[in-house]
Amino acid sequence: MSTWILITGGSRGIGAATALRCAAAGWDVAINYARDGAAADALAARVQALGRRALCLQADVADPAQVAALFERLDAAGGRLVGLVNNAGIVAPAARLQDMDMARWRRLFDVNVLGTLLCCQQAARRMSRAQGGAGGAIVNLSSRAAEFGSAGIYVDYAATKGAVDTLTKGLARELIAEGIRVNGVRPGIIETDIHAASGLDAAAAADTIPIQRLGRAEEVAEAIVWLLSDAASYTVGALLDVAGGR
Ligand code: NAP
Repeated sequence: MSTWILITGGSRGIGAATALRCAAAGWDVAINYARDGAAADALAARVQALGRRALCLQADVADPAQVAALFERLDAAGGRLVGLVNNAGIVAPAARLQDMDMARWRRLFDVNVLGTLLCCQQAARRMSRAQGGAGGAIVNLSSRAAEFGSAGIYVDYAATKGAVDTLTKGLARELIAEGIRVNGVRPGIIETDIHAASGLDAAAAADTIPIQRLGRAEEVAEAIVWLLSDAASYTVGALLDVAGGR
């Protein structure tokens, strides 16, 4: 029987590294993406080369109907959902608060916060032992920005990740009695394409990080996969910083 890990925003960056690490650990991988179907297909081929099933599922996580349809397509593939990684996330061009607008705030909160809520809800309905499921694990991608606040760059993005942290702690306590462990991972500055959207030169920040370099997506994936696994059986509501000491 297939045991699926669903990774939102799984086609690139941290999500893609997590997909490969999950496949190596023996799970089948459902790869959600927003626009780049070619990247998702290429990653699916790499998952299959590791001997696991892969399913590419296009959906905007901010859209409730699309999220519901995504989970129905996963149901139709057979097997059991054992894990969800809420990884899909966006930033916006670096700006000060006075120069931001409502459309930007709505999109950041829709994708980063409501998208996480929607996917947690759908997954919990399937994994909850109180609703006939067999339990599972959820890992929410936050950011060290939730603590620093990202002044002068994107306080709005940082606020979305603060909301994700609070959701992680509350939901962890709500769902553990139903057999679902919820935890969070808070990356520092990781080498992915996300920084292009902010217009910032991420590499220039390397010497501000105690470890003196940016992180790699694979290094974040290791933490995510550990939290998904039974090795983390007593870890509930944790926020794990993967940030090189930042
Ligand atoms: P990335 O390289 O930009 O990849 C983003 C992924 O999310 C892509 O697969 C993209 O799909 C997907 N996506 C974007 N909007 C979506 C939506 N509305 N619905 C579904 N999928 C969507 O990002 P990353 O750097 O790997 O970041 C992953 C997570 O880690 C995010 O939550 C981010 O906030 C967090 N994080 C990253 C860093 C960092 O330095 N990289 C630091 C702290 C936290 P398409 O390719 O189809 O567009």
